[in-house]
Amino acid sequence: MSAPQSTRGSQTRPRSPQGRAPAKTSSGNRPRTAPKKRRRRNGAGRRAFYLLIVLLGVAGVMYMALRLFAGPGGEKTVTASAPMPSRLPVTAQPAATPLPTPTPPNVDVNSWELRLIRYEKPLGADFVPESLTEIENGQQVDSRIAQPLKDLFGAARAAGYDVYFCSGYRDYNTQHIIYFDNHVDVYMAQGMSEEEANAKARLAVNYPGSSEHQSGLCADILESPNQDMEPYIGGSGLMLWLEEHCAKYGFVIRYPADKTEITGVEYEPWHLRYVGETAAKYMMEHGLCLEEFLAMYGVTFS
Ligand SMILES: [Zn+2]
Repeated sequence: MSAPQSTRGSQTRPRSPQGRAPAKTSSGNRPRTAPKKRRRRNGAGRRAFYLLIVLLGVAGVMYMALRLFAGPGGEKTVTASAPMPSRLPVTAQPAATPLPTPTPPNVDVNSWELRLIRYEKPLGADFVPESLTEIENGQQVDSRIAQPLKDLFGAARAAGYDVYFCSGYRDYNTQHIIYFDNHVDVYMAQGMSEEEANAKARLAVNYPGSSEHQSGLCADILESPNQDMEPYIGGSGLMLWLEEHCAKYGFVIRYPADKTEITGVEYEPWHLRYVGETAAKYMMEHGLCLEEFLAMYGVTFS
């Protein structure tokens, strides 16, 4: 193997300086001393060289053509795949967030349990539930939610919590007394104007005629009669248990801590509203208040 290589080497080496010179000049001006043999060989070599150039050219053209054809698709995959690693954390998050919104559950938003009751959508002074059922502690609710509420109480007690049914259905007059006598009048006695007193009262109590308690579809639940009805009790004890399990019985925390701007009511972890199991599970799972849930179906209140 080494011998033929060295011969070839010795043959080409002396030829190359001479061979290069004619290549630079035109074919007619070749040095006279150049032997025919060599010229032929040079010619063969040149042909091989030209062939190589042509082949390289063809290969180049084919490569360019392939790139051009694959261009739009190829470039897309290149640009799409290249920034992927850096985009991954960014694209993964927006892809995860919009998922809940496009697939709202199949519910009838005009059904009684999804009725929106608030200042702008009052029940009116004359509204009385068709049928009321007493649960315990003298408290009544709309008969249609009696069983789910009893089931909820039973489950909470089975989980080891004391349950005190603080307040269910309240008629218009009771709400009127709570709102004006217990709040507005008190605030005005403290020196507030009527407007200021109303503004403060409306954050804490629903205006007469616009309270969910008048509908009989909600329940204020505490661990004991002595427990404060203040936001700080949320996220612990029975309040935490209710937050985690109420949806299974068709209830939601109607006034969540982070939705005050939408609901217009301060955080009330004890106030449970019946909306039906399907809607309740969706709302609690996706962190939506009733206003936000209904908005997905085009129901607004303003
Ligand atoms: Zn309440």
